Amino acid sequence: MNTVYIGLGANLNAPEAQLRNALDALSTSPVCSLAQVSSFYASKPMGPQDQPDYVNAVAKLITALPAIEVLDLLQQIEHQHGRVRKAERWGPRTLDLDILLYNDTQIATQRLTVPHYGLCEREFVVFPLLEIAPELTLPTGQVLADIAASLPRNGLTAISHYHDAASLV
Ligand code: ATP
Ligand code: MG
Ligand code: MG
Repeated sequence: MNTVYIGLGANLNAPEAQLRNALDALSTSPVCSLAQVSSFYASKPMGPQDQPDYVNAVAKLITALPAIEVLDLLQQIEHQHGRVRKAERWGPRTLDLDILLYNDTQIATQRLTVPHYGLCEREFVVFPLLEIAPELTLPTGQVLADIAASLPRNGLTAISHYHDAASLV
């Protein structure tokens, strides 16, 4: 079995529902099991600031799938749950599911870079990952807690949880 950490993000009108739907899909999937989910965090968008804040989380999956098939699964879920139909065309993607880590493996192919290239610089990845994997060392040898210690939180705030009853609507 393989241990995979994934990053989830959305900034649609109801981004928490986007994340919950994606996590529901993963937890009911026959090809992986959802082992852990971080808190949901509000975060500032990267790049253009004239867009809503994001909600981010990190989850741990256990699966027999090879990494490329995990990417296929995540992209399938992005398409099923993360896009809103605008008139006759698909609107912008509102759900992002990225592979952060796949075991201790380093992958550099056209479709897949693992560890995710932005992992160490993104506070909305590092802190949720640290929450569920406080002892983690990256395949590069970097200690996650050390990365977190020198990374500004940039307003990152825990706001809710996957299983919050209030959001089970
Ligand atoms: P960023 O990669 O900066 O977080 P993004 O997640 O918004 O940006 P996407 O449009 O979701 O980018 O993905 C673009 C492509 O990135 C995908 O089609 C996929 O092939 C590739 N990719 C490379 N490495 C990864 C990874 N570790 N996880 C997910 N997608 C990846
Ligand atoms: Mg991304
Ligand atoms: Mg992505």
